[in-house]
Amino acid sequence: MAKEKTSAAKQLQEKLCYKKQNGGMKLSDKEIKECDKFGEKYKTFLDAAKTEREAVIYAEKLAVEAGYVPYSSDMKLKAGDKIYVNNRGKAIILAIIGFEPIEKGVHIAAAHIDSPRLDLKQCPLYEDNEMALFKTHYYGGIKKYQWAAIPLALHGVVVLSDGSKVTVNIGEDEKDPVFCVTDLLPHLAQEQMKRTLSEGIKGEELNILVGSRPFKDDEASERVKLNILDILNKKYGMTEADFLSAELEAVPAFKAKDIGFDRSMIGSYGHDDRVCGYTALKAILDCKKAHKTAVVILTDKEETGSDGNTGLRSSYLKYFLMDIAESMGAKGRTVISNSECLSADVNAAFDPTFPDVVDRRNAAYLNYGVVVTKFTGSRGKSGTSDASAEFVGRVRKLMDDNSIIWQTGELGKVDLGGGGTVAAYIANLNIDVIDVGVPVLCMHAPFEIVSKIDVFMTYKAFYAFLAE
Ligand code: MN
Ligand code: MN
Repeated sequence: MAKEKTSAAKQLQEKLCYKKQNGGMKLSDKEIKECDKFGEKYKTFLDAAKTEREAVIYAEKLAVEAGYVPYSSDMKLKAGDKIYVNNRGKAIILAIIGFEPIEKGVHIAAAHIDSPRLDLKQCPLYEDNEMALFKTHYYGGIKKYQWAAIPLALHGVVVLSDGSKVTVNIGEDEKDPVFCVTDLLPHLAQEQMKRTLSEGIKGEELNILVGSRPFKDDEASERVKLNILDILNKKYGMTEADFLSAELEAVPAFKAKDIGFDRSMIGSYGHDDRVCGYTALKAILDCKKAHKTAVVILTDKEETGSDGNTGLRSSYLKYFLMDIAESMGAKGRTVISNSECLSADVNAAFDPTFPDVVDRRNAAYLNYGVVVTKFTGSRGKSGTSDASAEFVGRVRKLMDDNSIIWQTGELGKVDLGGGGTVAAYIANLNIDVIDVGVPVLCMHAPFEIVSKIDVFMTYKAFYAFLAE
């Protein structure tokens, strides 16, 4: 039978209409396998780096293995040099000095490595009715009810009275105990069920159960609490007062897992934004050389608004750029003003169970590739840096020239809410910037979901940009 002739309308459609396509249709089996393979390495990272501190340790280790050296502002730099700066153990900048004059600007990929979680309060430990608990203060935007009745692990550091620091990581090893925020049984939850969802579990009800067995002595009071302090003292050499100078973070204890019969997705704590942190990190480590100087910054504090000396409202990125400019005999201001940045952060993926919160024509979809988000913010684009058409065009061409599957996305319907990223703070330095990242389901939940195809496409996008 002869092949049917394509109609004129079809031909015109082909020529003029923008068509989105599922990456699973576009990619060959071999390419999909490559995405899956990348997913395996990403899962290892997720399990090893559940806090900003652990992500920095992980990144620094890989950087050192790849020949990166700690940078100080008195160093002379030349093309090909690989350097890094560790900011207080909570943020890290990696850079490869490019062959092109640094005056032409640098290429930056900026992701954040902090995720929503439950932080312990300064005086966390107490006993109530012969049970020991920790008081917490949640970090970042969470739906509080999601954090009850799930296994939690405890990560962080305690600075002891003599100034020494001990690292805490308990709940990750198969043999470790875990912790839990308790919730009410439905039988007795009649009153609780009348609360709004945001009040289902209140902030002061996010108390973590940490023990129930008393210290065997008839004399003292609060013997369950005492028993916990005894265990902590033996394990970490700490006393109750040492909680005052501690940063302890409760995070979901479960591991990253494949999702679906087809294993097309990964479920894990902390995809936002370690999925962009990992892909950006891998991208710069895989760069053999860079034409323009390539910079990857893994920052802290995004989930609480980027304030603080390890967040991107601080000057540490600016100082770094000014210092490397000076090390190469260039003016910092010129280098910064000619730089470009991909603000590497996640966007919301379309959820068929909750379709009404997005404009379907402008939502990001799972498996449709890396998302380019021109603007974020809320109401009338309040709080966004809104990339220019010129810069969107530049990024569009970069994606297409490198066969990267990509899509655009907007965070929900107009006036329904909103959010921001670090893009605005980088743009305020007079840098061209746009948000680029992975679409995520269940964002900010203890267990978030991404597609392996989207993760790999995001890696490819950062690699193309940094190696340019
Ligand atoms: Mn984020
Ligand atoms: Mn977030």
